[in-house]
Amino acid sequence: MNLNANIKYLKGVGEKRAAILAKLGIFTLWDLLTFYPRVYEDWSRIIPIKYAPVNENVCIKAIAGMPCREHRIRKGMTLYKTEVTDGESLLDITFFNNKYAAAKIEQGKEYLFFGKITGKGYYRQMTSPEFEEVTDKGGMRPIYPQTAGINSKAIEKLIKTAFDSCDKIDDPIPKDIRNSYCLLNLEGALKNIHFPENEDMLSEARRRLIFEELFLLELGMMRLKTKNRRSTAFSMQNDFTDEYFSLLPFELTGAQKRAIAEATADMMKKVPMNRLLQGDVGSGKTAVSAALIYNCARNGCQSALMAPTEVLAMQHYKTLAKMFENTDITISLLTGSTPAAEKKKIKAALKDGTIDLIVGTHALIQKDVEFNNLALAVTDEQHRFGVNQRSTLSSKGNNPHTLVMSATPIPRTLALIIYGDLDLSILDEMPKGRQKIETFLVNSEIRERAYGYIKKHLCEGMQGYIVCPMVEDNEEFELTAATKLYTDLSEGFFKGFRLGLLHGKMKPAEKKAVMDSFASGETQLLVSTTVIEVGIDVPNAVIMVIENAERFGLSQLHQLRGRIGRGSHKSSCIMISDAQNEETVHRLKTLASTTDGFKIADEDLKLRGPGDFFGSRQHGLPEMKIANMMTDGEAIRETHAAAANLLKKNPALEGEEFELLRKAVNRLFSGGISMN
Ligand code: ADP
Ligand code: MG
Repeated sequence: MNLNANIKYLKGVGEKRAAILAKLGIFTLWDLLTFYPRVYEDWSRIIPIKYAPVNENVCIKAIAGMPCREHRIRKGMTLYKTEVTDGESLLDITFFNNKYAAAKIEQGKEYLFFGKITGKGYYRQMTSPEFEEVTDKGGMRPIYPQTAGINSKAIEKLIKTAFDSCDKIDDPIPKDIRNSYCLLNLEGALKNIHFPENEDMLSEARRRLIFEELFLLELGMMRLKTKNRRSTAFSMQNDFTDEYFSLLPFELTGAQKRAIAEATADMMKKVPMNRLLQGDVGSGKTAVSAALIYNCARNGCQSALMAPTEVLAMQHYKTLAKMFENTDITISLLTGSTPAAEKKKIKAALKDGTIDLIVGTHALIQKDVEFNNLALAVTDEQHRFGVNQRSTLSSKGNNPHTLVMSATPIPRTLALIIYGDLDLSILDEMPKGRQKIETFLVNSEIRERAYGYIKKHLCEGMQGYIVCPMVEDNEEFELTAATKLYTDLSEGFFKGFRLGLLHGKMKPAEKKAVMDSFASGETQLLVSTTVIEVGIDVPNAVIMVIENAERFGLSQLHQLRGRIGRGSHKSSCIMISDAQNEETVHRLKTLASTTDGFKIADEDLKLRGPGDFFGSRQHGLPEMKIANMMTDGEAIRETHAAAANLLKKNPALEGEEFELLRKAVNRLFSGGISMN
């Protein structure tokens, strides 16, 4: 049977089961063979009954001593019970309402029983164990993720059938590479991941499969990059950075100047820059990107700045327009909500080169957006975009220089994959005059006082935010909560003050009006959902109250809090929460105790685990079946070296022996990145 054959044709499947398997993401024979066990039961470690710990899975080997007896406990509940012995001790084996299982145990025969033992002292029992007659194969048993309609045992059986009936499994990793990294071949690895001969073989199988996944990923990512690197970009002739400095109302920090110098040097080369600018919230990343944009424009080239939200794109547009108002740099804003006629005009102007800088959202990466001479593509809050989206922006024009900016520190291993040998500039210094944000955690009884504190600041001419509780996956509800709070406060506690309301469902023009009014100081207090989370910059806002703070993740709280403390005034953040849960309180206290983004990200990672912190949604990489990009650091380094090595010798993976490998890489990146 062909590996790509529809699973319904496998013996024992059929239409109905195929529909169930589809829920597990299994559509083809290959999908089934790569549906890996979740855990293994170790049936090889047999424990004497008397030493078996209670309440954990154990495997015992025992002979059935007497026929199974039936006890009616109450209506509809029958207990089947038999006694087994391993020669030294006795143990009761019981089943509820499962006559079929009980009947299979024959007196005098020896079985392996796997399950949890309960009870104390003399009387101990194992309830509803898995069992089978002792044969020579014990070992590791696979346990699969299951779904309604199919259990682990049934999946195991199908996989056995699949191995028996499938065509030869070819290995995408050429023999030479397998040999130099001591890897099992694919077929051996697959067999052992499902039915390990022993623990060593299991770990070799895992190692091989993880290697393959990461190797393909690295090859794909590196190819994507070398494609960029090979070709020439617009190299800038002149450095106008000093001129740029004079446009600013403030003196840049040493870190900002360093980052600008590093990037500018890159941009004067013939190879496209590929740089990550990492700096905590408020460290002044925008001013760094603006320097590059300015340099670009003065050298006669275009640049693009892409932001993940419309609100942020609008803000960048305004900031940059103001910064460049006395220059002859032409700026436009292009987002999903730009009116069609306007869009058309902008696109034409981009194409003929009349626009020097385009600021926008995903709208920038649409097919029909063309540039005259795009030399710089900046992506702000890069973690909000997928790898594909970012590379689409860079693929516009003739291999522009790229700068990605992020406040989220990514673990090194992950950065290695996503960016390969991408260069890094770090803003490790905050602008002068910043004061530490004070953060308080209070319960809801203190709410009035917190509001009073806001009022005091408003009276002094400062501004503030009230962030509404986040409601998971329920934007409607969130919106209602925000709207209600806004109305209550406008008519109640803050009557006479100028309040604004901002939420995600508003029309872009409304959002813009609200943000403009807040930025100009007209609106004093902004009641908002998390739409302000990324990038919003209003330095006069110095106080923030976060309602139901327990509903937010740690990194998210840090981002939210980053909206204040952006000027020279002292800022305060008050989190309101009645949470009692220990972990939640710990999370909130962590935020209150530090403003260091790296520490916070670290803690967040510990609390939430890698899956949540950097799910594929966050980094935009293809989904991995077995490799874990957070914990398989060693394998990442190994495959990184292996991939670099191979591509150095054979950049296009030419030749027959690499055909399968080439195809496999393309398949993994079928979401958008292609090797050819
Ligand atoms: P982020 O790194 O979070 O994107 P921004 O670029 O939005 O930060 O900058 C935060 C605020 O700090 C802005 O109001 C910006 O004008 C201001 N800023 C940036 N650099 C400096 C500096 N060197 N001195 C004073 N203020 C600065
Ligand atoms: Mg920013």
